[in-house]
Amino acid sequence: MESERPACLCHECGTLHGVRRLPSGVTARCRTCGTPLYRQRKDTAVRALALTVAALILFAVAHTFPFLTFSMEGNATTATILGSAFALYREGVWPLAAVVFAMASLFPLLKLMANLYTLLPAAMGRAAPGTHRMFATAARLRSWAMTEVYLLGVLVAYVKLSELATLTVGPALWAFGVLIVCMAAADNVLDPRAVWWRLGPQNRLGALLATRQPLAACHVCDQVVPLPAAVHDARCPRCGAMLHHRKPDALARTWALCLAAAILYIPANVLPVMTVTSFGRGESDTILSGVVTLIEAGMWPVAALVFFASITVPVLKLIGLFYLLLSVQLGWHARPRERTQLYRIIEQVGRWSMIDIFMIAILAVLVDLGEIARIEPGTGALAFAGVVILTMLASASFEPRLIWDNERKRHGKRRPAAA
Ligand SMILES: [Zn+2]
Ligand SMILES: [Zn+2]
Repeated sequence: MESERPACLCHECGTLHGVRRLPSGVTARCRTCGTPLYRQRKDTAVRALALTVAALILFAVAHTFPFLTFSMEGNATTATILGSAFALYREGVWPLAAVVFAMASLFPLLKLMANLYTLLPAAMGRAAPGTHRMFATAARLRSWAMTEVYLLGVLVAYVKLSELATLTVGPALWAFGVLIVCMAAADNVLDPRAVWWRLGPQNRLGALLATRQPLAACHVCDQVVPLPAAVHDARCPRCGAMLHHRKPDALARTWALCLAAAILYIPANVLPVMTVTSFGRGESDTILSGVVTLIEAGMWPVAALVFFASITVPVLKLIGLFYLLLSVQLGWHARPRERTQLYRIIEQVGRWSMIDIFMIAILAVLVDLGEIARIEPGTGALAFAGVVILTMLASASFEPRLIWDNERKRHGKRRPAAA
């Protein structure tokens, strides 16, 4: 029966769907905007648990052993992951040290622990106290845990240094590589719906439609609940997250964050991101001059990667967000589906701009040979990290459903029909 199906509300456009059984591995997409809605996964809790445990072991190995050893003129320095954050702290740029520590170590660890706490009892058909909050935390940390971006930063640093000195790869780097594969596989086999539905049943389509109330979806656990338009402080009955029809003050917030990022983008590009001192001679590099140095050294692929991640992505992201903001505010009707797609891309690519910051952290810890050679982070790096974080917050605070509200106003539909 159609009305007996569990309900699902698209987060990007607000269309109501009934959840169908799908073959394993198939993804259901929203019929209005094309956003992926849900997938079916076999034995999801057990498989995700096994991969999470493996990832935790690899995390411990990656944080215990040396990562890279740098030898030059008879001197050697060894880097560990925590050491790269500590090197920034020692250089006096503690906000940058905190960012690298949080994104490369703390957030991935918290995400793994929160998943373990949820999945271990879930695999046995139970729920530990506070599971709702823990699982919600793991979901929120998803875009801020940047292990794979960190690894790419390490590779860029490796290529940059390999011409100057001898580099030896330590066991931690191999463990870190496999850790990323395990974390990605765990995310891939995990079907969060299956876990949430075990913690509390999903509301049914028929019952929801019978209430004749506007519907809202929980952004954490995807529960669909009737929510009168005038209510502003309701919480999700299943996970306790705040419920709202549209993110509060989404446009003002996104504008403010985008403008702040655009202003900070100027010092991020004008000020040096790092200074290389060798035998008493210092040379400062901005993001762009760093790319030019790579090109001059013939390292084209890495130069292209750094240029794309550090210069193209932040600019395109800001232009894209400004375009979306204007399109909503001026009530444009053209291409809502493509605009939703643009929003999805902006949300996903933003984190990759952190490559340069991680690379600088690794260079700072490795190239620390006193008079012979030193690399110190510059103020530009701090501004650049600010740009990346602000644009990530801006895309998270934007409300894609506003794109479709314009569309609905035009067609005079108050609530989209059920699938
Ligand atoms: Zn949709
Ligand atoms: Zn919820």
